[in-house]
Amino acid sequence: MAYDPENIFAKILRGKMPAHKVYEDDEVFSFMDIFPQARGHTLVIPKTEAENFFDISTDWAAKLIGKTQVVAKAVRAALEPDGILIAQFNGAAAGQTVFHIHYHIIPRWEGAGLPGHGHTVRADDEELAALAAEIKAKLGGA
Ligand code: AMP
Repeated sequence: MAYDPENIFAKILRGKMPAHKVYEDDEVFSFMDIFPQARGHTLVIPKTEAENFFDISTDWAAKLIGKTQVVAKAVRAALEPDGILIAQFNGAAAGQTVFHIHYHIIPRWEGAGLPGHGHTVRADDEELAALAAEIKAKLGGA
């Protein structure tokens, strides 16, 4: 399947759709997932057109995982979860719903369940903005 430049994340990158931004540089854009599987669920997307893990270049894949680590460290510092799940889905059969490659950073707390991927409710925008600010602060305000 050819990359669809009208996918939601491509529109976010072009500034055509709103997002609760956590971090941005020349390589990636990071923002809060609006249907979070846990408090602080954050996404990281590259500024290159790639649908999934198999059509992104190795160079871009390295940039993306490197920046995902930077953002995940800030999520961990801000929210102090017991653990953090890093996830990435390839193809609808695997659970992918937006076809611009992205990493999920999902904080986990002991005893708290994890709602199924794609089975969550829309989060409150004020709460997402507050979380984004908390995480951003740990990145030095980027
Ligand atoms: P995936 O199912 O792995 O493709 O992940 C797509 C993720 O994007 C899901 O966790 C959705 O909740 C999330 N999502 C969908 N639309 C938006 C949006 N406009 N802003 C932020 N997150 C979104």
